[in-house]
Amino acid sequence: MEGWEAFANSLAVNPAVLTQQNRGRRSLTRGSTVAPHCTYFFDDVYYHPLDCGLQIWEGSNSLCILHDPDPNKDVDLFNETLEKKIQQIEKNPSIEEIILAGVVFPATNPLKDEASLRGMSFRKAVDFSSVKFRGFANFEGTQFGDRAVFSFTKFDRGVAFDKAEFVGRAVFDHTEFSSQAYFRGVRFAREAHFESVKFRGFAAFPSAEFEGNTDFSNADFGEDAQFVRSKFQSGGTFSGAQFRAGANFSYAVVGKTLEYRGTSFPPLHSDTEIEFHFLTFQAPQALRFEDVDLSRVSFIGTDLTQVHLVGCRWPSKTERRFWPVPLWSQQRLVVYDELILEERDVKGKMPKVTLPLVADLYRQLRINLEASRQEIEAGDFYIGQMEMRRRDTSYPLIYRLLLACYRAVADYGESYWKPFAWYALILTPLFALAYWALGTVAYANGFFSALTAGVLFREVPEGVVAWEKMLVYFNMIADIFLLGLTLVALRRRFRR
Ligand SMILES: [Zn+2]
Repeated sequence: MEGWEAFANSLAVNPAVLTQQNRGRRSLTRGSTVAPHCTYFFDDVYYHPLDCGLQIWEGSNSLCILHDPDPNKDVDLFNETLEKKIQQIEKNPSIEEIILAGVVFPATNPLKDEASLRGMSFRKAVDFSSVKFRGFANFEGTQFGDRAVFSFTKFDRGVAFDKAEFVGRAVFDHTEFSSQAYFRGVRFAREAHFESVKFRGFAAFPSAEFEGNTDFSNADFGEDAQFVRSKFQSGGTFSGAQFRAGANFSYAVVGKTLEYRGTSFPPLHSDTEIEFHFLTFQAPQALRFEDVDLSRVSFIGTDLTQVHLVGCRWPSKTERRFWPVPLWSQQRLVVYDELILEERDVKGKMPKVTLPLVADLYRQLRINLEASRQEIEAGDFYIGQMEMRRRDTSYPLIYRLLLACYRAVADYGESYWKPFAWYALILTPLFALAYWALGTVAYANGFFSALTAGVLFREVPEGVVAWEKMLVYFNMIADIFLLGLTLVALRRRFRR
């Protein structure tokens, strides 16, 4: 014992301390720095795993301040550490990408010191995969010089990317925006990926510029989505996306294509609208709808002859018709804009919707659908176009009265059986009755005369007075007119 103690004394170290030091030294042989490392380990499906490399901070047993999930951690230290890390990587030519995967931004006061990367510029690619922003995230005017990845990133509060510029590819797939997301005037110089993104708050992309391919497929818009005046210069898709509230694409510019395949828009009985007003197309058939419910979609001012429409569902409208039976009603397909004209509360929101503009939509739709052989829809929209004219008081009264007759007799030439029914069931018995009542002929002869008046140029019976002659001529003209209408409608049907 004495020898051991003497040896220990000669080293001037307490044996207990010695064993502690040995333990410390053993742990040092594993790490490369003096203090222990953050144990955060990120294994992403797209990228190689990440080992953090920062030291554990005093508030945690195993993590650095960047990866510590505590939302109330030391904000100043967090910002300082983050800034230092970014600057070091930017200066180091051997590192290509700023990887911030898994970082948890503290829940700071959104009004004071938000997680602000405002006006910053990243020269290198930056990876925010699976980052959690516990507070408001401000990227206003931020420049992303290369690729920017926000895959699986969670924004718990609002986020602003207003006037930010993405020079490289922008990846926001599976990103969750729990509150408002502002992308006003943002510029995406290359592809913008927003696949399966979730917006739980307002999604604002007004005047956004999408210069590369833009992919919002399977995106989920929980609140209003604003794309007013945005520019889709290359291909854009919202296929499989879900719009649970309203959306506005008015005044958007479509360069190549903008596609909505299987997109879910609000149903007829909801109180929100999807607006595609006054869009500009730089290529034919640029706007594409396939298998979409257009019950609440308004198209005022947009040239629908240039829109690709396949398998779309239109709202229908039931109208009271007083002929031939009281309470007779008829259904036809309409555009939502016609329904707006009748819903005063909606009309207040959309003063742009007027009778002539809706008539124009119908005209364009008819041309479009006839060209793509969707005859039934085309016929209904032709009726819609005529209906708008009949109601429009800027047309002369006589023209509108003629349209009303044409509608009653033949649905503006779309029905072939209606004029025939007028001829066979109403006018012929009436004229027969008249001939018989006047004593001109027996009823059976009168019926035969009335039935064949338009078919054969019958001779007027001898000895009848002038106004009886008039009756015969009137019968003739009415029959020729009605049979003519039947033939016109039949020809129209078979030509299509
Ligand atoms: Zn870490």
